Amino acid sequence: MTQIDWTRAGKYFLLMDFIHGMRLGLKHFFRPAATLNYPHEKGPLSPRFRGEHALRRYPNGEERCIACKLCEAICPAQAITIDAEPREDGSRRTTRYDIDMTKCIYCGFCQEACPVDAIVEGPNFEFATETREELFYTKEKLLENGARWEAEIARNLELDAPYR
Ligand code: SF4
Ligand code: SF4
Repeated sequence: MTQIDWTRAGKYFLLMDFIHGMRLGLKHFFRPAATLNYPHEKGPLSPRFRGEHALRRYPNGEERCIACKLCEAICPAQAITIDAEPREDGSRRTTRYDIDMTKCIYCGFCQEACPVDAIVEGPNFEFATETREELFYTKEKLLENGARWEAEIARNLELDAPYR
Protein backbone atom coordinates (compact mmCIF):
# COMPACT_ATOMS: atom_id res chain seq x y z
CA MET A 1 0.00 0.00 0.00
CA THR A 2 1.35 3.42 -0.93
CA GLN A 3 2.15 5.87 1.85
CA ILE A 4 0.65 9.36 1.57
CA ASP A 5 3.17 12.19 1.88
CA TRP A 6 1.06 14.57 3.98
CA THR A 7 3.61 17.41 3.89
CA ARG A 8 3.68 17.37 0.12
CA ALA A 9 -0.07 17.03 -0.12
CA GLY A 10 -0.54 19.98 2.27
CA LYS A 11 1.78 22.16 0.21
CA TYR A 12 -0.10 21.13 -2.91
CA PHE A 13 -3.53 22.04 -1.54
CA LEU A 14 -2.31 25.31 0.00
CA LEU A 15 -0.82 26.32 -3.40
CA MET A 16 2.57 26.90 -1.77
CA ASP A 17 4.51 26.68 -5.06
CA PHE A 18 2.20 29.28 -6.58
CA ILE A 19 2.63 31.59 -3.57
CA HIS A 20 6.45 31.21 -3.68
CA GLY A 21 6.40 32.02 -7.40
CA MET A 22 4.26 35.11 -6.87
CA ARG A 23 6.50 36.29 -4.03
CA LEU A 24 9.61 35.88 -6.19
CA GLY A 25 7.95 37.69 -9.10
CA LEU A 26 6.91 40.61 -6.87
CA LYS A 27 10.40 40.78 -5.33
CA HIS A 28 11.98 41.33 -8.74
CA PHE A 29 9.16 43.43 -10.20
CA PHE A 30 10.41 46.68 -8.64
CA ARG A 31 14.13 46.01 -9.14
CA PRO A 32 16.03 47.40 -12.15
CA ALA A 33 15.88 45.01 -15.12
CA ALA A 34 18.87 42.67 -15.38
CA THR A 35 18.38 42.30 -19.13
CA LEU A 36 19.14 44.71 -21.97
CA ASN A 37 16.99 45.47 -24.96
CA TYR A 38 19.78 44.70 -27.46
CA PRO A 39 20.48 46.10 -30.05
CA HIS A 40 18.78 49.29 -28.84
CA GLU A 41 20.62 49.08 -25.51
CA LYS A 42 24.19 47.93 -25.05
CA GLY A 43 26.14 47.05 -21.93
CA PRO A 44 29.46 48.60 -20.91
CA LEU A 45 32.65 47.22 -22.49
CA SER A 46 36.05 46.88 -20.85
CA PRO A 47 38.81 49.07 -22.34
CA ARG A 48 40.58 45.74 -22.94
CA PHE A 49 37.74 44.33 -25.01
CA ARG A 50 39.16 42.57 -28.07
CA GLY A 51 36.82 43.18 -30.97
CA GLU A 52 37.21 43.92 -34.66
CA HIS A 53 40.71 44.83 -35.84
CA ALA A 54 41.72 48.25 -37.04
CA LEU A 55 44.87 49.92 -38.37
CA ARG A 56 45.49 53.36 -36.94
CA ARG A 57 46.96 56.56 -38.33
CA TYR A 58 48.75 59.43 -36.58
CA PRO A 59 46.80 62.70 -36.21
CA ASN A 60 48.62 64.06 -39.30
CA GLY A 61 47.17 61.22 -41.37
CA GLU A 62 50.38 59.18 -41.65
CA GLU A 63 50.03 55.43 -41.18
CA ARG A 64 51.39 54.24 -37.85
CA CYS A 65 52.43 50.84 -39.18
CA ILE A 66 56.16 50.61 -39.96
CA ALA A 67 55.92 47.16 -41.52
CA CYS A 68 58.09 45.49 -38.87
CA LYS A 69 55.98 42.33 -39.25
CA LEU A 70 56.07 41.52 -35.53
CA CYS A 71 52.30 41.05 -35.56
CA GLU A 72 52.54 38.66 -38.50
CA ALA A 73 55.26 36.66 -36.75
CA ILE A 74 53.47 36.38 -33.42
CA CYS A 75 50.00 35.55 -34.72
CA PRO A 76 49.33 31.98 -33.58
CA ALA A 77 46.64 31.51 -36.21
CA GLN A 78 48.83 32.79 -39.05
CA ALA A 79 45.95 35.06 -39.98
CA ILE A 80 48.05 38.12 -40.90
CA THR A 81 49.82 38.57 -44.24
CA ILE A 82 52.06 41.57 -44.83
CA ASP A 83 54.03 42.74 -47.84
CA ALA A 84 56.26 45.77 -47.53
CA GLU A 85 58.65 47.93 -49.48
CA PRO A 86 60.46 51.21 -48.84
CA ARG A 87 58.89 54.43 -50.00
CA GLU A 88 60.72 57.07 -52.00
CA ASP A 89 61.53 58.93 -48.76
CA GLY A 90 63.16 55.76 -47.39
CA SER A 91 60.43 54.99 -44.84
CA ARG A 92 59.17 51.46 -44.68
CA ARG A 93 55.46 50.92 -45.18
CA THR A 94 53.19 48.01 -46.00
CA THR A 95 51.90 47.49 -49.51
CA ARG A 96 49.62 44.75 -48.29
CA TYR A 97 48.16 44.09 -44.85
CA ASP A 98 45.55 41.35 -44.82
CA ILE A 99 43.86 39.62 -41.90
CA ASP A 100 41.87 36.48 -42.46
CA MET A 101 39.26 37.02 -39.80
CA THR A 102 37.96 33.48 -40.24
CA LYS A 103 41.27 32.25 -38.77
CA CYS A 104 41.65 34.90 -36.06
CA ILE A 105 41.12 33.70 -32.49
CA TYR A 106 41.06 37.24 -31.02
CA CYS A 107 44.02 36.55 -28.74
CA GLY A 108 45.26 40.14 -28.95
CA PHE A 109 48.91 39.11 -29.51
CA CYS A 110 49.16 41.28 -32.63
CA GLN A 111 48.15 44.34 -30.62
CA GLU A 112 50.55 43.46 -27.80
CA ALA A 113 53.45 42.96 -30.22
CA CYS A 114 52.98 46.19 -32.15
CA PRO A 115 55.61 48.79 -31.10
CA VAL A 116 53.61 51.74 -32.43
CA ASP A 117 50.01 50.82 -31.49
CA ALA A 118 49.14 50.51 -35.17
CA ILE A 119 47.18 47.26 -35.22
CA VAL A 120 44.59 47.15 -32.47
CA GLU A 121 41.47 45.25 -31.61
CA GLY A 122 38.78 47.88 -31.30
CA PRO A 123 35.49 47.95 -29.44
CA ASN A 124 33.32 46.87 -32.41
CA PHE A 125 31.73 43.46 -31.98
CA GLU A 126 28.99 43.91 -34.56
CA PHE A 127 30.69 42.77 -37.73
CA ALA A 128 28.94 39.53 -38.57
CA THR A 129 28.79 38.83 -42.30
CA GLU A 130 26.79 36.66 -44.65
CA THR A 131 29.79 35.35 -46.58
CA ARG A 132 33.30 34.19 -45.67
CA GLU A 133 34.79 36.49 -48.31
CA GLU A 134 33.64 39.54 -46.36
CA LEU A 135 35.85 38.40 -43.47
CA PHE A 136 39.05 38.59 -45.53
CA TYR A 137 40.11 42.07 -44.39
CA THR A 138 42.42 44.18 -46.54
CA LYS A 139 44.61 47.10 -45.53
CA GLU A 140 41.98 49.53 -46.85
CA LYS A 141 39.27 47.94 -44.75
CA LEU A 142 41.50 47.96 -41.64
CA LEU A 143 42.46 51.61 -42.13
CA GLU A 144 38.79 52.42 -42.62
CA ASN A 145 38.03 50.72 -39.29
CA GLY A 146 40.83 52.74 -37.70
CA ALA A 147 39.34 56.02 -38.92
CA ARG A 148 35.87 55.01 -37.76
CA TRP A 149 36.85 53.91 -34.25
CA GLU A 150 39.89 56.12 -33.52
CA ALA A 151 38.24 58.11 -30.72
CA GLU A 152 37.13 55.00 -28.81
CA ILE A 153 40.41 53.16 -29.46
CA ALA A 154 42.53 56.10 -28.27
CA ARG A 155 40.42 56.45 -25.10
CA ASN A 156 40.66 52.71 -24.35
CA LEU A 157 44.45 52.69 -24.85
CA GLU A 158 44.77 55.69 -22.53
CA LEU A 159 42.65 54.01 -19.84
CA ASP A 160 44.67 50.81 -20.08
CA ALA A 161 48.10 52.52 -20.26
CA PRO A 162 48.79 52.46 -16.47
CA TYR A 163 48.46 48.67 -16.46
CA ARG A 164 50.67 47.88 -19.47
S1 SF4 B 1 44.10 38.57 -32.49
FE1 SF4 B 1 45.56 36.84 -32.37
S2 SF4 B 1 44.83 35.41 -33.93
FE2 SF4 B 1 43.85 37.37 -34.39
S3 SF4 B 1 45.18 38.36 -35.87
FE3 SF4 B 1 45.82 39.08 -33.84
S4 SF4 B 1 47.47 37.66 -33.21
FE4 SF4 B 1 46.35 36.70 -34.91
S1 SF4 C 1 51.00 46.61 -37.30
FE1 SF4 C 1 52.60 47.04 -35.81
S2 SF4 C 1 53.58 45.03 -35.44
FE2 SF4 C 1 52.40 44.85 -37.35
S3 SF4 C 1 53.85 45.32 -38.98
FE3 SF4 C 1 52.79 47.23 -38.46
S4 SF4 C 1 54.13 48.20 -36.92
FE4 SF4 C 1 54.76 46.05 -37.05
